[in-house]
Amino acid sequence: MTDRAEKTRNDWLATLAKFKADPDQAANERMWSPRLDGASRDEITAIQNEKLSVVTPFLYENSRFYRDRFDRLDLTPSDIASLDDLVKWPVVDKSEMTRDVEASPPYGHFTTMGEDIWQSRGWMLFSTSGTTGTPRIFRYSQIDREYWAWSNARAMHAMGFTPADTVFMMTGYGPHVWAWGVQMGLAKMGIGLLPGGGMDGAMRAGIVERFKPTVLCCTPSYALYLGRVMQDLGRDPATSSVTKLFCAGEPSMAIGPTREKLEDLWGARLVEFYGCTEAAPQAGGYACEATGGEDGYFLHLMEDLQVWETVDPETLETTAPGQRGLSVCTNLISESSPQLRFLVGDFTTLNHETCACGRSHARAMGCFQGRADDLINLRGIKFFPTQIEKAVRAIPGLGDEFQIVLTSRPADGMDIMKVVVEHSDHGPASKLTETVAAAVRAEIELRADIEVVAPGTLPKTEFKAKRVTDERANR
Ligand SMILES: [Zn+2]
Repeated sequence: MTDRAEKTRNDWLATLAKFKADPDQAANERMWSPRLDGASRDEITAIQNEKLSVVTPFLYENSRFYRDRFDRLDLTPSDIASLDDLVKWPVVDKSEMTRDVEASPPYGHFTTMGEDIWQSRGWMLFSTSGTTGTPRIFRYSQIDREYWAWSNARAMHAMGFTPADTVFMMTGYGPHVWAWGVQMGLAKMGIGLLPGGGMDGAMRAGIVERFKPTVLCCTPSYALYLGRVMQDLGRDPATSSVTKLFCAGEPSMAIGPTREKLEDLWGARLVEFYGCTEAAPQAGGYACEATGGEDGYFLHLMEDLQVWETVDPETLETTAPGQRGLSVCTNLISESSPQLRFLVGDFTTLNHETCACGRSHARAMGCFQGRADDLINLRGIKFFPTQIEKAVRAIPGLGDEFQIVLTSRPADGMDIMKVVVEHSDHGPASKLTETVAAAVRAEIELRADIEVVAPGTLPKTEFKAKRVTDERANR
């Protein structure tokens, strides 16, 4: 490591430490760290500016990806030293990182984790899923692990978790950031944990019965699946010990019919996290006690640790306050993966007014509605699979699962959509067909063919749902 690299790293770590308040326990019942969680907009801006002025020299000296980009844009680190300067830096998207990792496998150069740091204080390797190309790898340090525990504790404290809770973690414990970050946070909070990797539904249902967790930690699809497994075993999930469903991985809290289905099934409150591998170690978005109140459903962001913006999906220019756009994150928390204007790419609308919970950190109103990559464009009309989910799950008499099939009609090549749903009993399908068609048309203003199939026909989703099949001729 060069002297400059080492000096800028030490400066960055000192700045991170300076803004870590209440490292070990909650200061009060409402906020883990009132100095940060309850900071005013001006105080948040001052923290972000100070961190930005230190992170850009650190990135320049410790990441070849960033150094090359600064040079290519004819910028120096001091050109990006405050929030107002950020606009000079075009957003970084996943394809740019993918090209970097393909040119320099297996890690690329977009992080500040070098071999020397990994060998002296490496903690864990995480990976993007790789479903849309070469996986991008993020290695985090022991220092990151400690920040992660703290920032996730702040978020889970806001969601009302206490040491009286017992959390059942039902994930595969793979190289995905969510489960590990939550686990570190729970340990910091002194909350007991039941590890639930490598088990089938019946075994997990047995654990709910015997060890009485109060919180289930899983994807929303899995919470639904496990509830149905319990019902098939003759048990009622609504009378179980579970009081909170803590979900991530797919949007659920802001999709009304899905939230209601889950909350009714379990007799529990649904809360949500939102984040990404690239901008850890941090919760990202989290629910507070005021979500679901008069401002509807939303997620808080933790702005002393990250700067959040939205950009126009076409021009990638910053959208006006209150305008919907794609999420962009500048990560000001990590030793290993600070990022400048990373295009996370989920649609949302940011609100900077103070929340009823007392936090003035930005809120993602309506939560995050799906990645831009998931957007379906059918004959020029764009919509998310979650909009079909919202339409079909509001209809009584249907099962939990549905599928969207996109094809090109052989006769004239026109692209068409079929929505396949299950009825919940073996009653007549004709009435349901009309109801589903009308609900889909009302939601997305498109006519879809509807097929109603017998209960149990569609595959049951266990983890992340794959509900769209695209067989169109020209995708
Ligand atoms: Zn709030």
